[in-house]
Amino acid sequence: MEDKATVLVTGATGFLGMQIILQLLENGYTVKATVRDLKSADQVIETLRKNNIRSFEKLTFIAAELTMDNNWEEAMQGCNYVISVASPVFFDKPKDEEEAFRPATEGILRILKYAKKACVKRVVMTSNFGAVGFTQTDTSRETTEADWTDTTNKAVSVYERSKTIAEKAAWEFIRKDGGNLEFATINPVAILGPSLDAHVSGSFHLLQNLLNGKIKVIPNIPLNIVDVRDVACLHIKAMEIPEANGKRFIASADGQISLPEIAELLKWKRPELSQKVSSKRMPNFVLSIASLFNHQAKEGILLAKMNRNLSTRNVKTILNWKPVATQEETILAAVDTLKKYELL
Ligand code: NAP
Repeated sequence: MEDKATVLVTGATGFLGMQIILQLLENGYTVKATVRDLKSADQVIETLRKNNIRSFEKLTFIAAELTMDNNWEEAMQGCNYVISVASPVFFDKPKDEEEAFRPATEGILRILKYAKKACVKRVVMTSNFGAVGFTQTDTSRETTEADWTDTTNKAVSVYERSKTIAEKAAWEFIRKDGGNLEFATINPVAILGPSLDAHVSGSFHLLQNLLNGKIKVIPNIPLNIVDVRDVACLHIKAMEIPEANGKRFIASADGQISLPEIAELLKWKRPELSQKVSSKRMPNFVLSIASLFNHQAKEGILLAKMNRNLSTRNVKTILNWKPVATQEETILAAVDTLKKYELL
């Protein structure tokens, strides 16, 4: 296989980070991977081995923490590209909100600074659809990459705000101080699909809570879903394709699916795992009333009201993307992961 460029991937232990590393190695790239603790490197190698990577000559690890300068300069050395995936992923309301924001913004600014210093060609950042359309309620048009979530809206979760603020700070850096450094973002909706090991991301909690019956009455909230294999592939395309420079890319499978539809899909396709999936549906007015008192319900209303008619023109035309899976296949692959690793 021909020798390709060297790519620094941050967050090698993560659900998405590991999938990106797998695809880069399969495609002949040399990969430098950051982990917070070098002890995790063995686990990453073991997982990649189980997923048919046979040679590890092109993979090295370096310890780096988003909130500290240590090792970033060394990490960037010899790299042509950086894929900045690492970021805290959390769904519960943190005790200290300011502290929860810090790693996402500090981390991407640190990465851009050191990438520029090392003359890296392009940084691709994993942002989030939460930075694009969580407050876009105008259904007369598609939600596009020109939209930005309004972070002053109190119903937007701390996590989504942290991603929005971090992405804005990154574009600001590029505009003012970026020099020749190129930059693009991938903005995925909820990522599901198969995990390469027993580590699953926070996005799986919803499926776990449906399957273990914790969601007793299912609200009518629509969702957009994207497969982790597709999100990984889109990062690599955004790195390789010249026209991707300077662009944001919403990553979503076509269409949308509501929580009650997901519940029906699980009962139909995985009946052996779905005995505890509730058949009760929450009327919309109940969610509206609950939102007056409860932050989660407030977020639920936000999710229900946002315009989920998303434009995928950029990923299809500029990145020439052809999804590997439909949203239903992606959901079922995630459920199979939960079963395989006994996470139910
Ligand atoms: P994940 O499995 O929790 O991975 C997060 C990764 O970030 C881990 O490798 C973690 O390292 C690393 N990390 C967290 N805080 C760090 C810090 N302070 N310094 C260095 N590394 C740190 O989550 P994921 O789903 O793969 O998420 C990957 C990216 O996709 C994130 O940027 C996330 O915001 C974005 N995203 C995810 C979804 C989704 O539905 N999952 C949707 C849209 C966007 P440790 O193992 O050491 O904790």
